[in-house]
Amino acid sequence: MASMLFSEEHEIFRGAFRAFVAAEVTPNAEEWERRREVPRELWLKMGEQGFLCPWLPEEDGGLGLDFGYSMIVNQELIRGDGFGVGVPLHSDVATPYLAGYGTAEAKRRWLPGCLSGETITTVAFTEPDAGSDLAAIRTHAVRDGDDFVINGQKTFITNGWVSDLNVVAVKTDPSAGHRGISLILVDSGARGFERGRKLEKMGYHMQDTAELAFVDCRVPAANLLGEEGEGFRYLMEKLQQERLEVSIKCQTMAEECLKEAIEYTHTRSAFGRTIAAHQASAFKLAEMATEVELGRTFLEDLVAEHIAGRNIVQRVSMAKYWLAEMANRTAYAAVQLHGGYGYMEEYRICRLFRDVRSLPIVAGTSEIMKLIVARGLAPNSSR
Ligand SMILES: Cc1cc2nc3c(=O)[nH]c(=O)nc-3n(C[C@H](O)[C@H](O)[C@H](O)COP(=O)(O)OP(=O)(O)OC[C@H]3O[C@@H](n4cnc5c(N)ncnc54)[C@H](O)[C@@H]3O)c2cc1C
Repeated sequence: MASMLFSEEHEIFRGAFRAFVAAEVTPNAEEWERRREVPRELWLKMGEQGFLCPWLPEEDGGLGLDFGYSMIVNQELIRGDGFGVGVPLHSDVATPYLAGYGTAEAKRRWLPGCLSGETITTVAFTEPDAGSDLAAIRTHAVRDGDDFVINGQKTFITNGWVSDLNVVAVKTDPSAGHRGISLILVDSGARGFERGRKLEKMGYHMQDTAELAFVDCRVPAANLLGEEGEGFRYLMEKLQQERLEVSIKCQTMAEECLKEAIEYTHTRSAFGRTIAAHQASAFKLAEMATEVELGRTFLEDLVAEHIAGRNIVQRVSMAKYWLAEMANRTAYAAVQLHGGYGYMEEYRICRLFRDVRSLPIVAGTSEIMKLIVARGLAPNSSR
Protein backbone atom coordinates (compact mmCIF):
# COMPACT_ATOMS: atom_id res chain seq x y z
CA MET A 1 0.00 0.00 0.00
CA ALA A 2 1.24 3.49 -0.87
CA SER A 3 2.57 5.55 2.01
CA MET A 4 1.08 8.95 2.83
CA LEU A 5 4.29 9.97 4.55
CA PHE A 6 6.59 10.35 1.60
CA SER A 7 6.48 13.06 -1.07
CA GLU A 8 7.80 12.80 -4.62
CA GLU A 9 11.09 14.35 -3.42
CA HIS A 10 11.40 11.65 -0.75
CA GLU A 11 10.86 8.98 -3.39
CA ILE A 12 13.49 10.47 -5.70
CA PHE A 13 15.93 10.38 -2.78
CA ARG A 14 14.86 6.80 -2.05
CA GLY A 15 15.51 5.80 -5.66
CA ALA A 16 19.02 7.27 -5.55
CA PHE A 17 19.83 5.68 -2.20
CA ARG A 18 18.37 2.32 -3.19
CA ALA A 19 20.64 2.29 -6.25
CA PHE A 20 23.58 3.19 -4.02
CA VAL A 21 22.79 0.34 -1.63
CA ALA A 22 22.39 -2.14 -4.51
CA ALA A 23 25.83 -1.18 -5.83
CA GLU A 24 27.80 -0.62 -2.61
CA VAL A 25 26.15 -2.59 0.21
CA THR A 26 24.29 -5.70 -0.97
CA PRO A 27 27.18 -7.28 -2.92
CA ASN A 28 29.50 -6.83 0.09
CA ALA A 29 27.13 -7.65 2.96
CA GLU A 30 28.20 -11.28 3.38
CA GLU A 31 31.86 -10.36 3.44
CA TRP A 32 31.25 -7.63 6.07
CA GLU A 33 29.26 -10.10 8.16
CA ARG A 34 32.27 -12.45 8.11
CA ARG A 35 34.77 -9.67 8.84
CA ARG A 36 32.57 -8.25 11.61
CA GLU A 37 32.92 -4.73 10.28
CA VAL A 38 31.90 -2.28 7.60
CA PRO A 39 34.83 -0.51 5.92
CA ARG A 40 35.31 3.24 6.34
CA GLU A 41 35.13 3.63 2.54
CA LEU A 42 31.37 3.01 2.71
CA TRP A 43 30.98 5.87 5.16
CA LEU A 44 33.05 8.16 2.95
CA LYS A 45 31.04 7.26 -0.15
CA MET A 46 27.78 7.86 1.71
CA GLY A 47 29.11 11.20 2.94
CA GLU A 48 30.15 12.23 -0.55
CA GLN A 49 26.63 11.63 -1.84
CA GLY A 50 24.79 13.40 1.00
CA PHE A 51 23.44 10.26 2.70
CA LEU A 52 24.90 11.01 6.16
CA CYS A 53 22.96 13.29 8.53
CA PRO A 54 20.65 14.58 5.76
CA TRP A 55 18.69 16.53 8.38
CA LEU A 56 21.61 18.78 9.44
CA PRO A 57 20.66 22.42 8.88
CA GLU A 58 22.16 24.23 5.91
CA GLU A 59 24.04 26.65 8.22
CA ASP A 60 25.89 23.60 9.57
CA GLY A 61 26.71 22.41 6.05
CA GLY A 62 23.86 19.90 5.76
CA LEU A 63 20.87 19.57 3.46
CA GLY A 64 18.27 20.56 6.09
CA LEU A 65 15.94 17.66 5.18
CA ASP A 66 13.21 16.21 7.40
CA PHE A 67 13.31 12.95 9.39
CA GLY A 68 11.53 11.15 6.52
CA TYR A 69 14.88 11.08 4.71
CA SER A 70 16.57 9.47 7.70
CA MET A 71 13.79 6.89 7.71
CA ILE A 72 14.45 6.12 4.05
CA VAL A 73 18.18 5.57 4.68
CA ASN A 74 17.33 3.24 7.57
CA GLN A 75 14.74 1.27 5.55
CA GLU A 76 16.82 0.90 2.42
CA LEU A 77 19.92 -0.26 4.30
CA ILE A 78 17.85 -3.07 5.83
CA ARG A 79 16.17 -3.99 2.55
CA GLY A 80 19.59 -4.17 0.92
CA ASP A 81 21.04 -6.42 3.67
CA GLY A 82 22.96 -3.63 5.42
CA PHE A 83 21.08 -3.90 8.72
CA GLY A 84 24.33 -3.71 10.67
CA VAL A 85 25.69 -0.59 8.94
CA GLY A 86 25.96 1.81 11.90
CA VAL A 87 24.92 4.88 9.93
CA PRO A 88 21.43 5.47 11.44
CA LEU A 89 22.95 5.48 14.93
CA HIS A 90 25.58 7.97 13.76
CA SER A 91 23.23 10.21 11.75
CA ASP A 92 20.09 10.17 13.85
CA VAL A 93 21.20 9.31 17.39
CA ALA A 94 24.77 10.47 18.14
CA THR A 95 25.29 13.49 15.87
CA PRO A 96 22.06 15.19 17.11
CA TYR A 97 23.69 15.54 20.57
CA LEU A 98 26.60 17.44 19.04
CA ALA A 99 24.33 19.55 16.83
CA GLY A 100 21.85 20.19 19.64
CA TYR A 101 24.09 20.84 22.64
CA GLY A 102 27.65 21.33 21.32
CA THR A 103 29.38 24.71 21.45
CA ALA A 104 29.80 26.65 18.21
CA GLU A 105 33.48 25.63 18.23
CA ALA A 106 32.68 21.91 18.75
CA LYS A 107 30.19 22.02 15.89
CA ARG A 108 32.69 23.76 13.60
CA ARG A 109 35.30 21.19 14.47
CA TRP A 110 33.33 17.95 14.15
CA LEU A 111 30.13 18.40 12.13
CA PRO A 112 31.91 18.55 8.74
CA GLY A 113 33.42 15.11 9.49
CA CYS A 114 30.04 13.76 10.62
CA LEU A 115 28.70 14.76 7.20
CA SER A 116 31.64 13.45 5.18
CA GLY A 117 32.10 10.15 7.02
CA GLU A 118 35.52 11.11 8.35
CA THR A 119 34.10 11.38 11.88
CA ILE A 120 32.17 8.29 12.97
CA THR A 121 30.26 8.77 16.22
CA THR A 122 28.92 6.69 19.10
CA VAL A 123 26.68 7.16 22.08
CA ALA A 124 28.45 5.62 25.06
CA PHE A 125 25.92 5.33 27.89
CA THR A 126 25.72 1.67 28.95
CA GLU A 127 28.22 0.31 31.50
CA PRO A 128 28.96 -3.23 32.67
CA ASP A 129 26.81 -2.58 35.78
CA ALA A 130 24.28 -0.08 34.45
CA GLY A 131 22.09 -0.38 31.36
CA SER A 132 18.38 0.19 31.95
CA ASP A 133 19.18 2.12 35.12
CA LEU A 134 21.26 4.91 33.60
CA ALA A 135 21.22 6.91 36.83
CA ALA A 136 23.49 4.19 38.26
CA ILE A 137 26.41 4.80 35.87
CA ARG A 138 29.79 5.08 37.54
CA THR A 139 32.02 6.63 34.89
CA HIS A 140 32.91 9.99 36.34
CA ALA A 141 34.49 13.22 35.21
CA VAL A 142 36.36 15.56 37.54
CA ARG A 143 37.08 19.15 36.61
CA ASP A 144 40.82 19.96 36.62
CA GLY A 145 41.60 23.50 35.43
CA ASP A 146 40.40 23.79 31.83
CA ASP A 147 39.92 20.04 31.48
CA PHE A 148 37.74 17.16 32.63
CA VAL A 149 39.51 13.98 33.70
CA ILE A 150 37.35 10.92 32.99
CA ASN A 151 37.61 7.44 34.51
CA GLY A 152 35.32 4.49 33.90
CA GLN A 153 34.11 1.90 31.40
CA LYS A 154 31.38 1.53 28.82
CA THR A 155 30.13 -1.59 27.08
CA PHE A 156 27.97 -2.69 24.12
CA ILE A 157 28.89 0.47 22.21
CA THR A 158 27.75 0.42 18.59
CA ASN A 159 30.47 1.76 16.22
CA GLY A 160 32.79 1.60 19.26
CA TRP A 161 35.61 -0.12 17.37
CA VAL A 162 35.80 2.44 14.57
CA SER A 163 34.55 5.59 16.27
CA ASP A 164 36.30 8.95 16.08
CA LEU A 165 34.04 10.86 18.44
CA ASN A 166 32.03 9.60 21.41
CA VAL A 167 29.10 11.14 23.26
CA VAL A 168 29.85 9.84 26.75
CA ALA A 169 27.51 9.89 29.74
CA VAL A 170 29.45 10.59 32.95
CA LYS A 171 28.76 11.54 36.52
CA THR A 172 30.06 15.01 37.30
CA ASP A 173 28.38 14.89 40.71
CA PRO A 174 28.22 11.25 41.90
CA SER A 175 26.12 12.18 44.94
CA ALA A 176 23.29 13.72 42.89
CA GLY A 177 21.75 10.62 41.24
CA HIS A 178 20.44 11.34 37.75
CA ARG A 179 20.93 15.08 38.36
CA GLY A 180 24.66 14.42 38.53
CA ILE A 181 24.88 13.15 34.94
CA SER A 182 26.58 15.17 32.21
CA LEU A 183 27.36 14.43 28.58
CA ILE A 184 30.89 14.97 27.31
CA LEU A 185 32.41 14.62 23.85
CA VAL A 186 35.49 12.41 23.86
CA ASP A 187 37.72 12.35 20.82
CA SER A 188 38.97 8.79 20.22
CA GLY A 189 42.47 10.26 19.91
CA ALA A 190 42.36 11.65 23.47
CA ARG A 191 45.04 10.38 25.86
CA GLY A 192 43.48 7.80 28.18
CA PHE A 193 40.75 6.76 25.74
CA GLU A 194 41.05 3.01 25.21
CA ARG A 195 39.10 0.39 23.32
CA GLY A 196 38.49 -2.92 25.05
CA ARG A 197 37.15 -6.00 23.25
CA LYS A 198 35.21 -6.03 20.03
CA LEU A 199 32.30 -8.11 21.29
CA GLU A 200 31.10 -11.37 19.70
CA LYS A 201 27.33 -11.18 19.33
CA MET A 202 24.42 -13.50 18.52
CA GLY A 203 23.75 -11.60 15.30
CA TYR A 204 24.07 -8.16 13.79
CA HIS A 205 27.55 -9.30 12.84
CA MET A 206 28.72 -6.58 10.46
CA GLN A 207 28.08 -4.00 13.19
CA ASP A 208 31.03 -3.60 15.51
CA THR A 209 30.01 -3.40 19.14
CA ALA A 210 32.81 -2.67 21.57
CA GLU A 211 33.92 -1.92 25.09
CA LEU A 212 35.42 1.50 25.81
CA ALA A 213 37.56 2.54 28.75
CA PHE A 214 38.62 5.93 30.11
CA VAL A 215 41.81 5.92 32.13
CA ASP A 216 42.57 9.41 33.42
CA CYS A 217 41.28 10.50 30.06
CA ARG A 218 41.73 14.25 29.74
CA VAL A 219 39.42 16.30 27.53
CA PRO A 220 38.93 20.09 27.33
CA ALA A 221 36.08 21.38 29.53
CA ALA A 222 34.64 22.92 26.34
CA ASN A 223 33.75 19.36 25.25
CA LEU A 224 30.89 19.40 27.75
CA LEU A 225 27.55 19.20 25.94
CA GLY A 226 25.17 21.87 27.21
CA GLU A 227 25.10 22.43 30.96
CA GLU A 228 26.80 20.37 33.64
CA GLY A 229 24.29 18.10 35.44
CA GLU A 230 21.71 18.34 32.64
CA GLY A 231 22.81 15.16 30.84
CA PHE A 232 19.86 13.06 31.97
CA ARG A 233 17.40 15.63 30.65
CA TYR A 234 19.23 15.72 27.28
CA LEU A 235 19.10 11.92 27.15
CA MET A 236 15.36 11.93 27.75
CA GLU A 237 14.91 14.53 25.00
CA LYS A 238 16.94 12.67 22.41
CA LEU A 239 15.89 9.12 23.31
CA GLN A 240 12.57 9.85 21.60
CA GLN A 241 14.31 9.94 18.20
CA GLU A 242 16.57 6.98 19.08
CA ARG A 243 13.50 4.86 19.87
CA LEU A 244 11.86 5.99 16.65
CA GLU A 245 15.00 5.04 14.74
CA VAL A 246 14.88 1.54 16.28
CA SER A 247 11.11 1.30 15.65
CA ILE A 248 11.81 1.88 11.95
CA LYS A 249 14.30 -0.99 12.06
CA CYS A 250 11.72 -3.24 13.76
CA GLN A 251 9.03 -2.50 11.20
CA THR A 252 11.33 -2.88 8.20
CA MET A 253 12.77 -6.15 9.52
CA ALA A 254 9.22 -7.48 10.03
CA GLU A 255 8.33 -6.50 6.45
CA GLU A 256 11.42 -8.30 5.15
CA CYS A 257 10.59 -11.45 7.16
CA LEU A 258 7.05 -11.44 5.79
CA LYS A 259 8.35 -10.97 2.25
CA GLU A 260 10.70 -13.94 2.61
CA ALA A 261 7.89 -16.09 4.04
CA ILE A 262 5.47 -15.23 1.23
CA GLU A 263 8.05 -15.89 -1.48
CA TYR A 264 9.20 -19.18 -0.01
CA THR A 265 5.77 -20.61 0.78
CA HIS A 266 4.59 -19.95 -2.77
CA THR A 267 7.46 -21.89 -4.34
CA ARG A 268 7.90 -24.87 -1.98
CA SER A 269 5.37 -27.70 -2.13
CA ALA A 270 4.33 -30.49 0.24
CA PHE A 271 1.51 -33.01 -0.07
CA GLY A 272 0.74 -31.92 -3.62
CA ARG A 273 0.30 -28.19 -3.08
CA THR A 274 2.38 -25.15 -2.15
CA ILE A 275 3.05 -24.53 1.52
CA ALA A 276 1.05 -21.29 1.17
CA ALA A 277 -1.98 -23.25 -0.07
CA HIS A 278 -2.25 -25.22 3.17
CA GLN A 279 -4.80 -23.42 5.27
CA ALA A 280 -2.67 -23.39 8.44
CA SER A 281 0.12 -21.58 6.54
CA ALA A 282 -2.30 -19.26 4.79
CA PHE A 283 -3.81 -18.22 8.11
CA LYS A 284 -0.35 -17.71 9.60
CA LEU A 285 0.65 -15.52 6.63
CA ALA A 286 -2.60 -13.57 6.98
CA GLU A 287 -1.91 -12.96 10.69
CA MET A 288 1.66 -11.88 9.97
CA ALA A 289 0.57 -9.52 7.18
CA THR A 290 -2.09 -7.98 9.42
CA GLU A 291 0.38 -7.26 12.22
CA VAL A 292 2.88 -5.82 9.76
CA GLU A 293 0.22 -3.55 8.29
CA LEU A 294 -0.87 -2.36 11.75
CA GLY A 295 2.76 -1.65 12.58
CA ARG A 296 3.32 0.32 9.40
CA THR A 297 0.31 2.55 9.97
CA PHE A 298 1.25 3.24 13.58
CA LEU A 299 4.89 3.92 12.73
CA GLU A 300 4.14 6.29 9.86
CA ASP A 301 1.75 8.23 12.05
CA LEU A 302 4.45 8.57 14.70
CA VAL A 303 7.07 9.68 12.20
CA ALA A 304 4.67 12.33 10.89
CA GLU A 305 4.07 13.54 14.47
CA HIS A 306 7.80 13.62 15.13
CA ILE A 307 8.43 15.63 11.95
CA ALA A 308 5.70 18.05 13.10
CA GLY A 309 7.66 18.52 16.35
CA ARG A 310 5.10 16.94 18.68
CA ASN A 311 5.94 15.07 21.87
CA ILE A 312 5.74 11.33 21.12
CA VAL A 313 7.48 9.95 24.22
CA GLN A 314 4.53 7.85 25.32
CA ARG A 315 3.57 6.56 21.87
CA VAL A 316 7.12 5.90 20.70
CA SER A 317 7.61 3.74 23.80
CA MET A 318 4.50 1.77 22.79
CA ALA A 319 5.83 1.48 19.25
CA LYS A 320 9.34 0.46 20.24
CA TYR A 321 8.16 -2.40 22.45
CA TRP A 322 5.27 -3.57 20.27
CA LEU A 323 7.12 -3.37 16.94
CA ALA A 324 10.23 -5.09 18.34
CA GLU A 325 8.15 -7.96 19.64
CA MET A 326 6.00 -8.08 16.51
CA ALA A 327 9.17 -8.27 14.40
CA ASN A 328 10.33 -11.21 16.52
CA ARG A 329 6.97 -12.99 16.20
CA THR A 330 7.10 -12.45 12.45
CA ALA A 331 10.67 -13.72 12.19
CA TYR A 332 9.86 -16.80 14.26
CA ALA A 333 6.85 -17.68 12.10
CA ALA A 334 8.79 -17.00 8.90
CA VAL A 335 11.55 -19.44 9.91
CA GLN A 336 8.90 -22.02 10.78
CA LEU A 337 7.29 -21.63 7.37
CA HIS A 338 10.70 -22.29 5.76
CA GLY A 339 11.07 -25.61 7.60
CA GLY A 340 14.69 -26.82 7.78
CA TYR A 341 15.79 -24.32 5.15
CA GLY A 342 14.94 -21.52 7.56
CA TYR A 343 17.72 -22.77 9.81
CA MET A 344 20.33 -22.66 7.04
CA GLU A 345 22.72 -19.76 6.66
CA GLU A 346 22.22 -19.66 2.90
CA TYR A 347 18.63 -18.52 3.43
CA ARG A 348 18.17 -14.85 4.19
CA ILE A 349 15.51 -15.53 6.82
CA CYS A 350 18.14 -17.23 8.98
CA ARG A 351 20.08 -14.01 9.35
CA LEU A 352 16.98 -11.86 9.77
CA PHE A 353 15.89 -14.13 12.63
CA ARG A 354 19.24 -13.71 14.39
CA ASP A 355 19.46 -9.97 13.88
CA VAL A 356 15.93 -9.16 14.95
CA ARG A 357 16.55 -10.54 18.45
CA SER A 358 18.53 -7.45 19.43
CA LEU A 359 15.57 -5.11 18.90
CA PRO A 360 13.58 -5.66 22.14
CA ILE A 361 16.85 -4.98 24.04
CA VAL A 362 18.58 -1.99 22.43
CA ALA A 363 17.65 1.64 23.14
CA GLY A 364 15.58 0.64 26.17
CA THR A 365 14.21 -2.87 26.70
CA SER A 366 10.56 -3.80 26.16
CA GLU A 367 10.10 -3.83 29.93
CA ILE A 368 11.45 -0.29 30.29
CA MET A 369 9.20 0.85 27.42
CA LYS A 370 6.19 -0.62 29.22
CA LEU A 371 7.19 1.20 32.42
CA ILE A 372 7.20 4.50 30.50
CA VAL A 373 3.83 3.72 28.90
CA ALA A 374 2.32 2.68 32.23
CA ARG A 375 3.59 5.82 33.95
CA GLY A 376 1.56 7.90 31.50
CA LEU A 377 -1.63 5.99 32.26
CA ALA A 378 -2.39 7.59 35.61
CA PRO A 379 -5.89 9.09 35.97
CA ASN A 380 -6.20 12.55 34.38
CA SER A 381 -2.88 12.18 32.58
CA SER A 382 -2.83 13.40 29.03
CA ARG A 383 -0.65 11.91 26.32
C1 LIG B 1 23.55 -5.00 19.91
C2 LIG B 1 23.54 -3.96 20.98
C3 LIG B 1 23.93 -2.65 20.71
C4 LIG B 1 23.93 -1.69 21.72
N1 LIG B 1 24.39 -0.42 21.44
C5 LIG B 1 24.52 0.47 22.45
C6 LIG B 1 25.12 1.76 22.23
O1 LIG B 1 25.49 2.09 21.09
N2 LIG B 1 25.29 2.59 23.27
C7 LIG B 1 24.87 2.27 24.53
O2 LIG B 1 25.06 3.07 25.44
N3 LIG B 1 24.30 1.06 24.79
C8 LIG B 1 24.12 0.17 23.78
N4 LIG B 1 23.55 -1.07 24.02
C9 LIG B 1 23.12 -1.38 25.37
C10 LIG B 1 21.60 -1.44 25.55
O3 LIG B 1 21.05 -0.16 25.49
C11 LIG B 1 21.36 -2.14 26.90
O4 LIG B 1 21.75 -3.50 26.74
C12 LIG B 1 19.92 -2.06 27.36
O5 LIG B 1 19.58 -0.72 27.67
C13 LIG B 1 19.64 -2.95 28.58
O6 LIG B 1 20.59 -2.77 29.58
P1 LIG B 1 21.35 -4.05 30.23
O7 LIG B 1 21.88 -4.86 29.09
O8 LIG B 1 22.31 -3.55 31.24
O9 LIG B 1 20.21 -4.89 30.90
P2 LIG B 1 19.63 -4.71 32.41
O10 LIG B 1 19.32 -3.28 32.64
O11 LIG B 1 20.55 -5.37 33.35
O12 LIG B 1 18.28 -5.54 32.31
C14 LIG B 1 18.23 -6.96 32.39
C15 LIG B 1 16.76 -7.37 32.30
O13 LIG B 1 16.05 -6.80 33.40
C16 LIG B 1 14.96 -6.04 32.94
N5 LIG B 1 14.75 -4.88 33.81
C17 LIG B 1 15.65 -3.94 34.22
N6 LIG B 1 15.06 -3.03 34.99
C18 LIG B 1 13.75 -3.38 35.07
C19 LIG B 1 12.62 -2.81 35.73
N7 LIG B 1 12.69 -1.67 36.43
N8 LIG B 1 11.42 -3.45 35.62
C20 LIG B 1 11.30 -4.58 34.87
N9 LIG B 1 12.34 -5.16 34.23
C21 LIG B 1 13.55 -4.55 34.32
C22 LIG B 1 15.35 -5.60 31.53
O14 LIG B 1 14.21 -5.25 30.77
C23 LIG B 1 16.06 -6.84 31.04
O15 LIG B 1 15.11 -7.77 30.59
C24 LIG B 1 23.50 -2.04 23.02
C25 LIG B 1 23.07 -3.36 23.29
C26 LIG B 1 23.09 -4.31 22.29
C27 LIG B 1 22.63 -5.70 22.61
